[in-house]
Amino acid sequence: MSLNETELNNIIHQAEHSCVESGGRLTVKRKNILIALLSADMPQSAYEIADYYKEAFKETIPVMSVYRMLEFLMKESLVHKLSSTNKYVACSHIACNHVHEVPQFLICDQCHHVREVGVKKDIIDALQNSVENANFYLNSPELELHGVCNDCRQG
Ligand SMILES: [Zn+2]
Ligand SMILES: [Zn+2]
Ligand SMILES: [Zn+2]
Repeated sequence: MSLNETELNNIIHQAEHSCVESGGRLTVKRKNILIALLSADMPQSAYEIADYYKEAFKETIPVMSVYRMLEFLMKESLVHKLSSTNKYVACSHIACNHVHEVPQFLICDQCHHVREVGVKKDIIDALQNSVENANFYLNSPELELHGVCNDCRQG
């Protein structure tokens, strides 16, 4: 995501607000981790986040703590984990008012950019049904689809 400062501040403000509403707190470190992900235009690993943190905030932070803070941010739906690549992205809908839909991630295998697209509830219900009919239970209904983005396809 390439955000200007106003957009970034607005998103952080919304994130603080939604943490308060759910009884959590966006501490300075958690906020900085979120800023790191919002400032990156690619999904980041916990190690990459720790590197960025050191560079941007002049403070060394253990990777274990990064994981813990990511857990918190994921619980708050501010950050999503891409299981297929073991990397993290900031949610694209932090500053939105609508209900967060089950996300589907479109991952470009060439430039590694990711787009978060909400999936309609009836599609997820249908998916869940067919999975349960096969006697299988999903840990998460999030979808990660690998392909090629329009920029790379044209390039
Ligand atoms: Zn999201
Ligand atoms: Zn939205
Ligand atoms: Zn691409």
